[in-house]
Amino acid sequence: MQERAMPHNTSAGQRGSHVVVIGAGWAGWGAAKGLCEAGVRVTLVDGMADPTGSQPVTTKSGKPFEAGTRGFWKDYPNINALTEELDVGSIYTGFTTSAFWSPDGLEATAPVFGESPQWPSPLGQVLATVTNFKRLPVRDRLSIAGLLYAILDLNRSDRVFQHYDDLNAQALFVRLGISDRMIDDFLRPTLLVGLFKPPEELSAAVAMELLYYYALAHQDSFDVRWIKSKSIAEHLFQPLSRRLVARHDLRVLGGTLARRLHVSAATHVVRSVELQDVRTGDITVLEDVDAVVLAVGAKGLKALMSESPECSKAAPELVAAASLGSIDVVSSRLWLDRYVPIAYPANVFSRFSALQGAGGTFFMLDQLQRDSEQALWGDEPPQGSVVASDFYNAAGIAAMPDQEIMDCLMHQLLPFTHPEFRNAKVVDAEVRRYPGSVSHFSPGSFRKRPPLETSIPSIVCAGDWVRMGDREHGAKGLCQERAYVCGLEAANSLIRRNLVKGSDPSKTLQHPVIPIRADEPQVVLGRALNKLVMGPIEGFGLKLPWFG
Ligand SMILES: Cc1cc2nc3c(=O)[nH]c(=O)nc-3n(C[C@H](O)[C@H](O)[C@H](O)COP(=O)(O)OP(=O)(O)OC[C@H]3O[C@@H](n4cnc5c(N)ncnc54)[C@H](O)[C@@H]3O)c2cc1C
Repeated sequence: MQERAMPHNTSAGQRGSHVVVIGAGWAGWGAAKGLCEAGVRVTLVDGMADPTGSQPVTTKSGKPFEAGTRGFWKDYPNINALTEELDVGSIYTGFTTSAFWSPDGLEATAPVFGESPQWPSPLGQVLATVTNFKRLPVRDRLSIAGLLYAILDLNRSDRVFQHYDDLNAQALFVRLGISDRMIDDFLRPTLLVGLFKPPEELSAAVAMELLYYYALAHQDSFDVRWIKSKSIAEHLFQPLSRRLVARHDLRVLGGTLARRLHVSAATHVVRSVELQDVRTGDITVLEDVDAVVLAVGAKGLKALMSESPECSKAAPELVAAASLGSIDVVSSRLWLDRYVPIAYPANVFSRFSALQGAGGTFFMLDQLQRDSEQALWGDEPPQGSVVASDFYNAAGIAAMPDQEIMDCLMHQLLPFTHPEFRNAKVVDAEVRRYPGSVSHFSPGSFRKRPPLETSIPSIVCAGDWVRMGDREHGAKGLCQERAYVCGLEAANSLIRRNLVKGSDPSKTLQHPVIPIRADEPQVVLGRALNKLVMGPIEGFGLKLPWFG
């Protein structure tokens, strides 16, 4: 292992400040874009070999693979703006219907609500349950009413939000009188695939934020679409990285882990960042660092903080954030010898014991990527369906051998959704594990989640799990839009506080951030009335029963 200083050929005076962005997910790319376009020099580092999407990920047999199939919901205005700005053409499918399956068959479908007449929310969604919930009795459906009230109450004040965060979602659901069947058949699978944990392991506050943002804010909030060919990295990160490299000299270091942040104990200023080449183990040091964006998850932060004693001491909130848990994910792809004509391209597994407590989804890529089907098969002629399946909260599944995971899909899960899966043979398959790769919003975790701005002014945080304070955005939960927006806000924070300057200070501007659609009037009114009533009630020392 060697250690050397990594030179940067131009001085800060000539070309503005230099920021190291650690982590090249949506948050890191958001921060890099905001800073580069403000004229700031940026080095973006990530442990993955190619964070720019220019070398597509393939299987051993040369077929494309992506870690997780990710949807783009209706209210992703900043990612939509990026897509337009990059002028990448039509990269998304139309909005699709999603289906929920249990061992009993089809449980429910989530239709494309934007195609029907729009009602004030949640009227349209409630009416849709009449036809779209196939088995759940009406009294179970109605038992969710209390949750609608709690969602109105959630943001009454910071203190109330904190109380909800301290509760686990299962306890809240039970105290609100939601029926076991409604919880087990609908809320549990929804949370398992939305926040990747069952309700008893989730903050009630974050669970409600998710349900509101993705399903309740507007009738068409749940409308979702997908990339219609290749991968997100190829369609969005690749053109973005090319543009930032060509126009703004962005430096991207793939296969490189940030190992240590050197912070002056006396002045609390970041001095340098130590990097390690993943392949060779060689150490280099970036010396001319003016600020750092930490765009990593809990696992990455834990590793960094354990090696950065001055930083840990000066910003104990980062150590607290690093102590939060993260979730294992397993992604797989099956290439089949025949087409399975299932009616829905995007699907959720619910209540299957074979999942061992994990959440599960599957996507018919031959349907979502119909127009570029050949690419799904690499150099081979297409033979049939290509099924991408993801498992969340997947410690149990991850411990199984690849063959058992494939057998589980082919024999214990997929045949319940369409009988033709029983006749299909797997001609190729790939399984990959991503331990600790996703933020876990556990009960009481809100206080510990990293803040956008830390006690060290020149270190900011970005990512789906970051608390944005007065810059908070309406996109919630494990969500690409939230991560991207938070990256933009991290860049804006450094610029706004004059902690970094571009080469031309008069052009060091903040990146625009687009809010999601405004809350509907009945929600605004409901919240205001609730606040009016609850203020005096709490003044008498009375509490809502679920806070008892
Ligand atoms: C299987 C799956 C399905 C999903 N489905 C959806 C969906 O349908 N819709 C949706 O909107 N969202 C979905 N999400 C969530 C969404 O992808 C995330 O919320 C979002 O991508 C998080 O972005 P991020 O930049 O905050 O974090 P990440 O994407 O996790 O990026 C963090 C990066 O930091 C790097 N890193 C960590 N430590 C270091 C270090 N020391 N040095 C250098 N680099 C480091 C990591 O390699 C990683 O690339 C899904 C996630 C998964 C896993």
